[in-house]
Amino acid sequence: MAFDDYPEIRAEVRKLCNDFPGTYWQKLDRDMAYPTDFVQALTVNGWLAALIPEEFGGAGLPLSAAAAILQEIQAAGCNGGACHAQMYTMGTVLRHGSDAQKAEYLPKIASGELRLQAFGVTEPTSGTDTTSIRTTARRDGDKYIINGQKIWTSRAEHSDVMVLLARTESKETVAKKTDGLSVFILDMKKALNNGLTLRPIRTMMNHATTEVFFDNVEIPADALIGEEGKGFRYILSGMNAERILIAAECVGDAKWFIDTASAYAKDRSVFGRPIGQNQGIQFPIAKAYAQMRAADLMVRDACRLYEAGENCAAEANMAKMLAADASWAAAEACVQTHGGFGFAEEYNIERKFRETRLYQVAPISTNLILSYLAEHVLGMPRSY
Ligand SMILES: Cc1cc2nc3c(=O)[nH]c(=O)nc-3n(C[C@H](O)[C@H](O)[C@H](O)COP(=O)(O)OP(=O)(O)OC[C@H]3O[C@@H](n4cnc5c(N)ncnc54)[C@H](O)[C@@H]3O)c2cc1C
Repeated sequence: MAFDDYPEIRAEVRKLCNDFPGTYWQKLDRDMAYPTDFVQALTVNGWLAALIPEEFGGAGLPLSAAAAILQEIQAAGCNGGACHAQMYTMGTVLRHGSDAQKAEYLPKIASGELRLQAFGVTEPTSGTDTTSIRTTARRDGDKYIINGQKIWTSRAEHSDVMVLLARTESKETVAKKTDGLSVFILDMKKALNNGLTLRPIRTMMNHATTEVFFDNVEIPADALIGEEGKGFRYILSGMNAERILIAAECVGDAKWFIDTASAYAKDRSVFGRPIGQNQGIQFPIAKAYAQMRAADLMVRDACRLYEAGENCAAEANMAKMLAADASWAAAEACVQTHGGFGFAEEYNIERKFRETRLYQVAPISTNLILSYLAEHVLGMPRSY
């Protein structure tokens, strides 16, 4: 059943979230400010280190436990989008980093001394077509020199280090377009004012996202993760975890909207009876509930495959799409159920509505999931 695994973890996370009520998020939203206290509370309680193995100071929990943590955060009306990447971006270092990199970074990420929340992949010109990125890393003796631009690099202002994807060999000269891409772990504090510039982007929700400019940023050669030119597959290997965890967040959002809508529908009386007595009000909420439950099953199936070390790409993608659709349907039903009050800041609905809309587009848009399924699962011709 949904929301019944890891009961102790869920109860603890829920307790923590109680300290961050709607008024806390409303103020941040108004000021477009970062939820520093909330992220700090999650960090000191070890929740963001759930997936880091115990030998590096984390909790060594499976992905399904991380999914439960994020689901609870969203279901409590909070927003894990501010820090969810701290949970999974370190996976690139864990799976593909050298022993020295793991020893240097993972314990500090686990303790919260280092924030690794920035993941620089998307660029303004290439968009979803990741192999067409133009940011380059040129080897020069014992360093690399980075030039180019990223966009939508979220939480960069609140990160100490960034996982960066750049071209080390031009797309024109490699055998396969997925070759020649490399991944780096970049010390942002050193790079800022040494060629690295961040420019915040104001968005429809409070998401601390930025444009990032690299102008001859020098980084040591040992910032390279794994082998030069093989970065595309390192990035791909982390994307399933990201999609599953964001799907879990969407299930949490859906739960918040459904709980909020059904409570209001029972309480609000118009024409002398509760609005929830009308099927026109009941059905969209009930339908969203069914969608949420189905999406949750797919999240669980994706977690099961991931934890067994099996290929979960199709399930991770489907989980992300179904959960984002469920949260959006629930958001829509919640606004409609509340009538005018759905638009009032103090009800938190319009904020959560704006926040959950993102997941139709990021970290991968619905169309790209559908083309993945059409091509890789159903064997139809590649459409692009
Ligand atoms: C708030 C926010 C935070 C983000 N955070 C990060 C981050 O931290 N790090 C990072 O690297 N990126 C981040 N992203 C980027 C995000 O992953 C991309 O926006 C997303 O992958 C879509 O890419 P795009 O915006 O370039 O759209 P485009 O690639 O320009 O696509 C535009 C539209 O066209 C559709 N489309 C494109 N090609 C096809 C096709 N062949 N078939 C059918 N439809 C197609 C897409 O589905 C989309 O709907 C973030 C984005 C946002 C808005």
